[in-house]
Amino acid sequence: MIIQCNVSIKDILLQGKKFTWEKPESCPECDDSVLWGHGFVLCYFTCLNDGIYLKRFRCPVCGAVIKLKPYGYFNKFRTSIHTIKKSLINRVKKRRFLPDIGRNIQYYWLRNLKRNVFACLGTKFIDRLLAGFEKLITMNINPVSCTVQSLDTITI
Ligand SMILES: [Zn+2]
Repeated sequence: MIIQCNVSIKDILLQGKKFTWEKPESCPECDDSVLWGHGFVLCYFTCLNDGIYLKRFRCPVCGAVIKLKPYGYFNKFRTSIHTIKKSLINRVKKRRFLPDIGRNIQYYWLRNLKRNVFACLGTKFIDRLLAGFEKLITMNINPVSCTVQSLDTITI
């Protein structure tokens, strides 16, 4: 279970495990208000060379483990949604990849977007991929995942 928080990746990088994470008010699974600290997990983001420590909590009632994560990232994606969108806009409108990111990954995002738009929205969006990107997010679907994946594990 992941909860997205309004925190700065750069602050977390600078402060490491001393960064003050705001504890969730209750367990997103069972709504119990007692959560215990459950250590940290080292995560990597493409905008940083070093990993950063993300805080975890555990619910003693139902056993759920909750990881806190900065806003703006799809689950299991290391590149921000902002950067992925910028790459797709560049590719669709200018037929170019962004120069500072590997072509393979940008191709991967575009290919998955096409597949997901077709699978979830049908042919009427196939020529409007960028609108499809936004539409899938509003449907809680990660538009660039290699599987049609629900975002409902993310609580905002
Ligand atoms: Zn719980």
